[in-house]
Order: sequence, then structure tokens, then C-alpha cells
Amino acid sequence: MQEKLNELKTRLWEVNDLHGAAALLYWDQATYMPPGGAEARGRQLAALSQLAQERFTDPAVGRLLDELQPYEASLPYESDEASLVRVTRRQYQRATRLPAAFVAEASQHAARSYQAWTTARPANDFAAMQPLLEKTLELSRRAAGYYGWPADGHVADALIEEADYGMTVATLRPLFAALREQLTPLVEAIQRQPAPDDSFLHRHYPEQQQWDFGVRVVERFGYDFQRGRQDKTHHPFMIKFGPGDVRITTRFHENDLGDGLFSTMHESGHAMYEQGIDPALDGTPLGGGTSAGVHESQSRLWENLVGRSRPFWSHTYPQLQAVFPDQLGDISLDSFYRAINKVQPGLTRVEADEVTYNLHVIIRFELELALLEGSLAVQDLPEAWRAAYRAALGVTVPDDRQGVLQDMHWYYSQIGGGFQGYTLGNIMSAAFWQAANAAHPEIAGQIAQGRFDTLLGWLRAHIHRHGSKFTAAELVQQITGAPLSIAPYIGYLQAKYGELYGL
Ligand code: ZN
Repeated sequence: MQEKLNELKTRLWEVNDLHGAAALLYWDQATYMPPGGAEARGRQLAALSQLAQERFTDPAVGRLLDELQPYEASLPYESDEASLVRVTRRQYQRATRLPAAFVAEASQHAARSYQAWTTARPANDFAAMQPLLEKTLELSRRAAGYYGWPADGHVADALIEEADYGMTVATLRPLFAALREQLTPLVEAIQRQPAPDDSFLHRHYPEQQQWDFGVRVVERFGYDFQRGRQDKTHHPFMIKFGPGDVRITTRFHENDLGDGLFSTMHESGHAMYEQGIDPALDGTPLGGGTSAGVHESQSRLWENLVGRSRPFWSHTYPQLQAVFPDQLGDISLDSFYRAINKVQPGLTRVEADEVTYNLHVIIRFELELALLEGSLAVQDLPEAWRAAYRAALGVTVPDDRQGVLQDMHWYYSQIGGGFQGYTLGNIMSAAFWQAANAAHPEIAGQIAQGRFDTLLGWLRAHIHRHGSKFTAAELVQQITGAPLSIAPYIGYLQAKYGELYGL
């Protein structure tokens, strides 16, 4: 059996290396590639992904998985070997359900749609996207049909499990509804209070100093630059080529201190997750983060629960003032802390504060379910978007550019499965944070001294090292002893913002 397991691993390593090579081409495209490289790069990326897909869906992989079934059954669930066979089988079954002709049709359509969106969005031209989006909806429904979903389930379940395996509409809808019910009065209460002044965050902050300060912060968090590096891009992301090369990207605006700084912290949270995975799982389907939600829990934990906390800034703010004496010399720690936590219902998800952010996600989640169910037509989507923003955030969407066209998700991929992970991540970040602090009450005091090793060590031991061995639900159960609950997250928001806004 060891021989068969090794054969499987060899095949998986090859697939993993093809994905790693494609990732490097993508990284280059998003950082340094001159515009003239786009066409050839698109072909090269498609060729590598297709090769990886063919190697992974090779019937020989299926046969090995079948032959390894008794071996898997003889081992403990959480062993590396049983987990490898279990998780690989899950991914193999999913990958082999889509006919090759459908995959080709969908990826061609996705490229065309994304290309059209890059001009339709600045032109505020939803009409140009409507027929393409109708086709995307049809393809998304067909993909769901190929994957299948349980008789008592929802068509979106087939798409959600791609990024957040184990999560379903039946569990997410009540969870998100309860969250929204708690968030709405909190947002309203905050809005009745005077808004903090954050104008000084928009003074002039030279890029190089922002860069150096951000690097110092994430290095202190524990992001390992011997196994990573940072570069500039338009839309920051984290990317992994192997366990020894996990990179982050960032961007800076010289008139907006928060954007670059918190984005750098966010991506470092994703990267530390990948850097913390047990090297024994490397090169296999176990050697990456387990779900979009758990990944986002790590990025949001470092960005928000640490990076926007009072203990963190009580230590770090004097250092920031020393870097920017002209810009922040006259600003107290308290004023700074209030400014970086300013709550303001707005139009744009990626610019939203901690309290309103999930309302943006829940709006998208509900709209995509309605589209998939057929209760909402694509042509009525812009108006449904405006109505949802009025109802949930009390804001008027002036145009589709700042409305339904703002996120690329529906325009470059599929409708369904792309948004729930953001809010799941926020909910889980607080659940994990509460568990870490219960196990180590000294964490807050250490953060106030600029120390993060106990926190990172706990995250490594309970989350990172497992890679994809456990599902999100299993991790939450192991760590908190209960299924995922919004209580820690709501408790965190109410305590923090209650204190900030004197509620
Ligand atoms: Zn993220």
C-alpha cells in the first residue's frame, strides 16, 4: 500500500508543480509584466491549467484512490495518509464531474466577460454586461447541475462547496440573517453618535515610508521574509509557489495611510497561514489552506482583531509617529485609534469598515441565490442592488459603476459561491480569537508590548499546521467545542464599538 500511496503522491506533486508554475506566471502578470505580454501570458496560463487538470483527472488517479480505500479505512481519520486519500478523492470526484467541453466553454466565456467588464465598469455600462451575465448565470446553473446537490439542498450548495466545503445555504442563510439582525441596530446606534475625525489619515504619506513601516509590522507579526517577499500590485493578493515561497502584494496611496497598511497586514495573515502548514503535507491537496472562510479568518484576525486594536497601537503608534512626525505629531493615540475604526455606511465593499462590511457581503449572497433560484432576472439586478443597499445600509447608489459593477466576482467567474467566505471569515476570526485568548490570557498584554509569538504559535498549532486536513466546520468544532456561532463576533463588535462610540 505504501507503494500505491507513493505513486499517488508523485502524481499529485506533478499537478501541484504545474499549478505552482501557473501561479508564478500569474504573479508576474499582476506585478511586473508589461502590457504587451497579456496575450501570450493568457495562452500560457491556460495551457498550464489545462495540463494540470488533465493530469489530476487521469483515470489512473481514480484507480489509485479506489485501491487505497481499505488502507484509508484502516487508519485514523486525522492521520496524514487517510486525510490525503480522503481529501484527494473529494477533489478528484469534483474535478471529474465537469465535461471537458463544458470547462472549455466556461473558461472562454469567463475570459470574454472579464475583458468586457474592464471597460463596462468605468463606462458605467451594465447593458453591455447583461447578455454576458445571463450566459454566466446559465453556465453557473449548468456547473451546479454537473456537480449535483442533495434533494433537500439548494442549487448554490453545489457551487459553495468549491471554496467552503461543508457549508450550505441551509446553514448560511440563518447564520447571515441572525448576523444582519444584530448588525443593523449597531450601525444605527453608531450613526446617531458624532463621527470621529479621520481627515489626518489623508495627509501626505510618502510611499517608501509607508512600505518600510508595513514591512516592519508584518515581520514583527511573524511573516517570514526568508520564505516570502512583497511587491506592488493594483488589487493586493497572497500567492504561494511552494512552502518556501509564499508572497504578498500590496498597494499604497500617498493620501490614504490606512489603505496600504491594513491591506499589507491582511495579506500577511493569509501568508502566515500558508507558511505555517506542516511541511509533510507539502505538494499534495492537503498542503494549502482548507477553505476561503478559514483563510479569510486568518487575514481578518491580523488586520482587524490585532491591527485595529488598542493594545497593538498603544505599542506601535509612537513608532508610526516617529516615521511621520509632520503628519501625526499633533494627533493623539486615542484620535488615531478612533479614526482607523470609523464606521460609515458606504457604497463599496472593499472600503467598508468592520461593522458594515458584512452587510455588503450578505447583500451579494442573497442576490446571487435569487439569481440562481430564478426569482430574480439579470436585467432586474441593478435595481435589486439599489433596493438592497437602501434597505440594509441606508445609502443611495448613484450609478452601477459604484453598484452592481463594482466587484469582479460575477464577471470573471461564476454566480454563486464567491462571497460567503468573506463573512464566514469574519465570524470565524472572532471565534478563533476568543479561543486563543481563553487559552492564553496573556496575549493582549503581549500585543501591547509588540509581541505576537504566543498568538501565532496558537494559530499554527490549532489551524495552520493542519493545512486542508480538516474542514472549516471540523476546525471550529475542535477549537470551540461547538458549531460555528456568531456570538463571539457580535460580542467583539459590540464591546469594541460600544466603547468607541459610547453606546
Ligand atoms: Zn483576504
